[in-house]
Amino acid sequence: MDAEIIAVGSELLLGQIANTNAQYLSVQFAEMGINVFYHTVVGDNHKRLESALEIAESRSNLIVFTGGLGPTKDDLTKETIARHLGKKLVYDEPALHSIEEYFRKTGREMTENNRKQALIIDGSEVLPNDHGMAPGMVIKEKGITYMLLPGPPKEMQPMFTAYGFENLMKKMDKHERIESKVLRFFGIGESLLETKIEDLLDKQTNPTIAPLAADGEVTLRISAKHSSREKCEEMISESEKEILRRVGEFYYGADQTSLIKELVKELTVRKLSISAAESLTGGMFQEQLTSIPGAGKVFKGGIVSYTNEVKAEVLGVSEDTIKKFGVVSEECALEMAQNVRKQLGADVGISFTGVAGPDEQEGKPVGTVFVGIVLPDGQSVAKQLNLSGSRAQNRIRSVKYGCHYLLHQLKNTQ
Ligand code: ATP
Repeated sequence: MDAEIIAVGSELLLGQIANTNAQYLSVQFAEMGINVFYHTVVGDNHKRLESALEIAESRSNLIVFTGGLGPTKDDLTKETIARHLGKKLVYDEPALHSIEEYFRKTGREMTENNRKQALIIDGSEVLPNDHGMAPGMVIKEKGITYMLLPGPPKEMQPMFTAYGFENLMKKMDKHERIESKVLRFFGIGESLLETKIEDLLDKQTNPTIAPLAADGEVTLRISAKHSSREKCEEMISESEKEILRRVGEFYYGADQTSLIKELVKELTVRKLSISAAESLTGGMFQEQLTSIPGAGKVFKGGIVSYTNEVKAEVLGVSEDTIKKFGVVSEECALEMAQNVRKQLGADVGISFTGVAGPDEQEGKPVGTVFVGIVLPDGQSVAKQLNLSGSRAQNRIRSVKYGCHYLLHQLKNTQ
């Protein structure tokens, strides 16, 4: 299949939003073995949309539209395509029912416009919208497959994963499926990780291994192609074993996870509570922790001790420590973690103190950070980081390193 993605929306042309839908779908299609040769963006205008559609028909046999399925006047994707294909728009009863149900439940008034969202092109297959109102649809005419998806990524992505993917796989001649697994690493740079698996990267064909680095983390996506799901999983598992044999110490989880999620999981399994004292991170660790459902089972609370006075007077870091070693020090980090753990009666204490930048502090360069950790048995450890990013990156990475070190410490204790 040769695909073209047409994103519909004047907001895209005005630069108000970025075309992340095309990016998302291109990644999906690459994995499915579908070629994407063109990305088109067109405004909310009948004539120009129809002309984009005609051009796409001349060069692609899968045309995927995103956006313009909503209830307002400028949402004209399905009307334009229906007219172009000489088809009527008809009500899809299940979609209409779910829209009516939504309005009944929320007690809001339903307008004729909302009913319009349940209209589909006659003869098309419906892709249910589990996260919104407008259903998606697929119709095949004269050898060309037209797929219509909603604009909001939080509706479009789950619709594609749950229904669009299968629909296209069935339409493709080859019955191969693609299964992927994403391995997540922290504490190792992209180039070092790649060097350690260079031979695997060089000889990869099936499964393929794709490295990606972002926000101080490295991920490896392993994708296997085969008609049977079991065979795909077997191939992925073999490849994963070999990768982890080499760089397993930096691995922290697979697929949709994060360091903070893994930390919450680990603390929950071990039935441990945690409290935090934060300086340069200003509460970021606690904010991330509380964004995870179930954090209430492990998180007691914390203290954002930004100034020296708060470190001394509220957190109880000794004046001596501050005078002798400064607040950006191993000693201060340890006292912060010990004191917050004690004051809040938690099993584990963690602290962050350092120089986020742009100016140095206490003669210590930007990026000098200390993370203090106190474990349930009272043992404490401080780690020094020498980060080299911007102020924002230094703060984000400090939190990630904190999670990473604490996870290691917990996993190394029985
Ligand atoms: P709705 O039912 O919400 O009106 P729709 O299918 O009509 O959905 P649009 O009205 O075109 O979609 O877009 C709704 C929102 O979805 C946009 O304001 C934007 O936030 C997001 N969106 C639309 N197209 C894209 C795109 N190509 N990439 C990323 N986001 C997009």
